[in-house]
Formats: sequence, structure tokens, C-alpha cells
Amino acid sequence: MKYFSTRNKNLNHSFKEVFLRGLSPDGGLFIPQKLKVYNSSELEELSKLKYTDLATEIISNFCVPDIEKTKLKELIERAYKSFSLEDVVTIKKVGNLNLLELYHGPTLAFKDIAMQVIGNIYNEFNSTDKKIINIIVATSGDTGSAAISALSGKPNINVFVLHPHNKISHIQRKIMTAVDSKNIHNIALKGNFDDCQKIVKEMFTDNKFREDINMSGVNSINWARIACQIVYYFYSSFKFPNKKINFSVPTGNFGDVYAGYVAKKMGLPINKLIVATNKNDILQRVINKGDYKPLRVEPSLSPSMDIQISSNFERLLFDVLDMNDSKVVNLMNSLKSQGSFKLKKEEVDIIKKDFYAEKTNDEETKKTIEEIKNKHKFIIDPHTATAVQALKNIKDDSETVILATAHPYKFLETIKLATGENIKAPAQFANLLDKKEKYDILENKTKMVKEYILKKAV
Ligand SMILES: *Cc1c(COP(=O)(O)O)cnc(C)c1O
Repeated sequence: MKYFSTRNKNLNHSFKEVFLRGLSPDGGLFIPQKLKVYNSSELEELSKLKYTDLATEIISNFCVPDIEKTKLKELIERAYKSFSLEDVVTIKKVGNLNLLELYHGPTLAFKDIAMQVIGNIYNEFNSTDKKIINIIVATSGDTGSAAISALSGKPNINVFVLHPHNKISHIQRKIMTAVDSKNIHNIALKGNFDDCQKIVKEMFTDNKFREDINMSGVNSINWARIACQIVYYFYSSFKFPNKKINFSVPTGNFGDVYAGYVAKKMGLPINKLIVATNKNDILQRVINKGDYKPLRVEPSLSPSMDIQISSNFERLLFDVLDMNDSKVVNLMNSLKSQGSFKLKKEEVDIIKKDFYAEKTNDEETKKTIEEIKNKHKFIIDPHTATAVQALKNIKDDSETVILATAHPYKFLETIKLATGENIKAPAQFANLLDKKEKYDILENKTKMVKEYILKKAV
């Protein structure tokens, strides 16, 4: 499989290059030149596989010939040993809701599903290159801990995680910063997630810096993340044979829901993808009205979605603009110079063929958590709640699977607020609150972050 970028169709990169670089040198996002499309008899065969075998089949489309299928199978099986479910994910029926629980990995959010595999892919590439890699990650709360869990203690790898200072939940921060490992560096940036992501992107497009530290990234702009997340759309769709289902997806950086869109392009019978946002509603505005205009990030009860610059949306844009890379460049330039861009009505109509978009405020989030608890004695996390709430406003009677993206324990203060209940820590985190945290607080300045990293990147 070869890759080009949303801003340059003349590129011709291998999976390994795309994996290690993360962001394309032109500032665009890497994208496969061609997708495998499954026909119905091939889908029938895939539907018989257990999760790890299905993952091997789907993901191998994207990484041959750099990783052989047998090798990939071994990496994936090893990755998912750290999950508490043999089948990695499960669909729980709660009343008439189908909750796809994606949070049974080591750090209790869906980010583990891709990150545990990615950790092993680094090992694989590293065993031949033996060069120290410095991985820089921006996190809105869950990617950081998933990356740390997947990469701590790995040879020849340093990890630098930037999280927005005081803007993630207490437990999210603890899970990240209470890891005592020499190759892990936590930075609390005095800014919001968009600031963290901006600094990481600036470092990626600074060729000298990037090369000096042999920089790599695992944010959802890394195609490997998307590839791993496509799998659970197939897995859950197969549980509803002969139906064209909807998926409701709590969305921030547009990575997870974009994976569903790719699954649909690969032939999976999906009706609509529901983009559920919190009050940071840029995606709801662009999908419903065509206005892509980042406003100031507002803190919400679903912090992992407190994002206004939704990077992966550029990948959808590329399709909507008929894969015209210069048109993508024009819109991105307009975003940079004028702070926004506007899509034409025809372009919005193309998006609406595949997507619905709804936003949920904090009051509704709390109410939804409370309602489900009262009716079904089941507790969902605040991100999942936005995806449940989104369904209430959509008139579409297709069967819908809701992506449950995090364990409620990660947001226990909000759960307490909504239901009065104290959530107990899952076994692996029984002593979490007693553990010592380690992180440095830095100003929101690219130069200072670079200096910090240069000092520690060896
Ligand atoms: C990251 C995250 C999201 C948003 O996912 P994107 O891929 O950024 O859209 C939703 N819920 C939780 C719990 C998350 O950690």
C-alpha cells in the first residue's frame, strides 16, 4: 500500500514512512492511494472471524509489504493480551441501546485499541533500525495515557506527552503521570488541547528539529490509528446481519468517526455515521451548515472532546473536494489567514449523505447519565452520553450502535455530580490515588517546549 497526502497527490510513501512520520511534510494528512473494497461474499467470510483475526485481515491491507501478515497477527495478538475481554470489545444491550464498549484496555478508553498495536509496531520497526525515536503526543486526556501504557519501558523510544494543564479529569491525569518510567515525559501545557496540537504540528513541519530528534507521532493524524479503529466497525456491523446500521460516535478530532467512514468506503453496509459533539461544536456546524470556523475551546464535562481544530476532518474534505489536493490547500490557507472556510451547498450535501451531526451541552450530558442510571442501573461516561443524547434528536429508525469510548471511572467527579454515585476503581487502578505523579508545567510557547524536549531527547 502506498500513501499520498491530502495536500499533495504526487507523494508516494510506504506504510513504514507514513507510520514513523505521522504528519506529511506539507502539513497535510497521509491517506492511502487506494482502498481495498470488500464484496458481499468476502464480508461473509470476514464475519466468521474472531476479533484478532479480523483485525489482522483489515489492518494488513494498510501495512503490506512493510509488515507481513503472519508478523502482524503476532503483534496484534500480543497487543490485545492486555485487554480484559478476550474479544477486545463487546456490545452491551442497555434497554434499547446497543453500547459498543471500547474501554476494556489497560487505560480504560478506546485509544488503547489502536495504541497497544502501535506500540508493538514501533518495536518491530525499531528492531531493524536501532535508532532512538522521540515520540511527541498531544492529548485531550486519553491518548496520552494509552501511549504511555503502550510505550513505557520500550527500548530506543522516548515519549513526550503534552496535556492541557488543569483541563483534563483528575483520574485522566493520574493515569498518565503516575507512571514511573525513564522514557516517559509528561508536560502540562498552560493552554488548551488545540494549543498542544498546534505545537506538535509545528514541530513536525520544522524539518531540522524533526530530523534532529528523529521525531515520530501517535496522534490520530497517524494513519495506523485509523487503521486499527476501522476493525470494530466491521466487528459490530457483523452482529447485525443483513442490516444497514448507524453508528453514533462521540467526536473531537474526527479520528474515530472517520474510521467508520473508511469502513463504509471499504464496503461495509453502514447507513449513517452520527457525529456527536459537546458544546465545542465546530463539526456540528460544518456538517450541518458548511461553516468551518474554530471558536475558543470551552471546557466541558467531556474533556476528551474539547477540541475546535478537528484535524482528521481534512481527510473527509479531501474526498468531498473530489480528491483535489489544490482545493484542500486553498481551504487550509484560508483557515490559516482568515480563521475559517466555508463549504458550498453541494459539498455539504455530499457530507450529509454519510453523516448526521448533533451537539449536546453539559446539562443534557448529566441528565442522560442520570436517566440511564435510573432506568437501567447502568453508568455511562460523559463522552458516551453525548452519543446517546444525539439519538434523541435524529429521526431515523435504523438500528444504531453507540460507541462507548471510556470507562466512567475516568470521570468519577462528573458521575458523582450526575448520579450521586461513587464509582469504584477497576482492579488495575486500586492504588492509583496513592501514587506519586511526575510532570512539568510549561508555558504555551513552541520554543520553550522544543528546548525542553531537546534537553531530554537523547
Ligand atoms: C479521544 C476521545 C474521543 C474523541 O475521539 P476523536 O477520534 O478525537 O474524535 C471521544 N471520547 C473519548 C473518551 C476519547 O478519549
